[in-house]
Amino acid sequence: MWYNNILETIGNTPLVKLNNITQGVKGTVLVKVETTNPGNSIKDRMAIKMIEDAERAGLLKPGGTIIEGTSGNTGMGLAIAAAVKGYKCIFTTTDKQSKEKIDALRAFGAEVIVCPTNVDPDDPRSYYSVSSRLAREIPNSWKANQYDNLSNTQAHYEQTGPEIWEQTEGKVTHLVAGVGTGGTISGAGRYLREKNPDIRIWGIDTYGSVFKKYKETGVFDKNEIYPYITEGIGEDFLPKNVDFDIIDLFEKVTDKDAALMTREIARREGIFAGNSAGAAIAGLLQLKDRLTDDAVVVVILHDHGSRYMGKMYNDDWLRERGFLQDEKLTAQAILRK
Ligand code: PMP
Repeated sequence: MWYNNILETIGNTPLVKLNNITQGVKGTVLVKVETTNPGNSIKDRMAIKMIEDAERAGLLKPGGTIIEGTSGNTGMGLAIAAAVKGYKCIFTTTDKQSKEKIDALRAFGAEVIVCPTNVDPDDPRSYYSVSSRLAREIPNSWKANQYDNLSNTQAHYEQTGPEIWEQTEGKVTHLVAGVGTGGTISGAGRYLREKNPDIRIWGIDTYGSVFKKYKETGVFDKNEIYPYITEGIGEDFLPKNVDFDIIDLFEKVTDKDAALMTREIARREGIFAGNSAGAAIAGLLQLKDRLTDDAVVVVILHDHGSRYMGKMYNDDWLRERGFLQDEKLTAQAILRK
């Protein structure tokens, strides 16, 4: 048996029980390990869905150029699909993103333009503005627009949600996911809520992002916005893919807790996941008093740890930010005593 191309291997990711970092947490905590997708992240699912919907709508034509502002994972999904389908790719990203992510996009033949992080989204230098301008001026190009393109949410409504429902045999009681574009939580959440209206949908946000305050007050508060380290989640605007009615609550996690928990997942569960996975698990642990013994929690682990080797998985990087105070107790250090 074989697949006709790598795109057919997207999805059907494993659901795995956590046993160690969840000690003392009531119920069962399962993680949906999205690292087994060909681009090592959940974003492959929505990338191919956006492309195929654009092809059907006549927006993306043979030989065309796919343009997007992406922090890496969506770009990876788009670049893989473009390689298989014969499109060109130009991505804009920010100088906050890990070098590994940018190099990986270039490995698939994409052109990557790095833009400054700390400018307003409507500043002409922002990665949003630059990608929009390129899409306007390059002939036969199509901007995927993952934030407002509802094919993103639809991918998770059609795939991620049903997979979770089937893998838990309908026993899932909580969905926990980091929120960036909002596609994952809104699509999977909507499907699960339709199956069982009692399911709780918890979004994980970052300090420096507007989501939590907006959900709680209905106010878009610019004072909530400041630079942060956590990658992939939180935003300084409201993407159309975030469905605030589906999400019951948002929980904010600090950069430090997200980074250290990312390491803990690898150390104590043997699962090598990315930074937003750490944020999601840390957020769940902050909320653990709301869980009962019969809870079946599914937490989405969006991407793979390899993209963060120079960051959360690097002790010096952690120390430079004051996230790691203690010297590690190595065998060498013990022998020296
Ligand atoms: N984690 C990572 C690593 C991501 O790249 C993204 C996408 N921005 C998310 C979480 C959030 O997923 P979504 O965009 O579907 O809300």
